[in-house]
Amino acid sequence: MSVRDLMSCEEFQDMVDGYALSVLDAGELLACAQHLAQPGPHAGCREIVAGVRNLAAQLSDLLPPLPPPPPVWDRILAGLATDSSDAERLRLERVEDQRPESASHQGQA
Ligand SMILES: [Zn+2]
Repeated sequence: MSVRDLMSCEEFQDMVDGYALSVLDAGELLACAQHLAQPGPHAGCREIVAGVRNLAAQLSDLLPPLPPPPPVWDRILAGLATDSSDAERLRLERVEDQRPESASHQGQA
């Protein structure tokens, strides 16, 4: 492969967010990795990748873990359960958890 086949630092930096977060397709990730593997000189490419990854890590620490919305829950439960009765049981248990304490006295023994 000739040097002309490899992307420039400018091209790399256009895609650096996607590369750092691994959201590019395989060919693009490979092209970016090949660019980083070049001896250079680079216009700060490696530092930018490190910076984007660092920022992403900080953001994920800052965001509170949100419970998934109910439709997602149902799909997760359906995926976990091997049959529909298990999924139904798990869903009922989740509803039980959300009831106030006083309601639990009336349950079956
Ligand atoms: Zn570069």
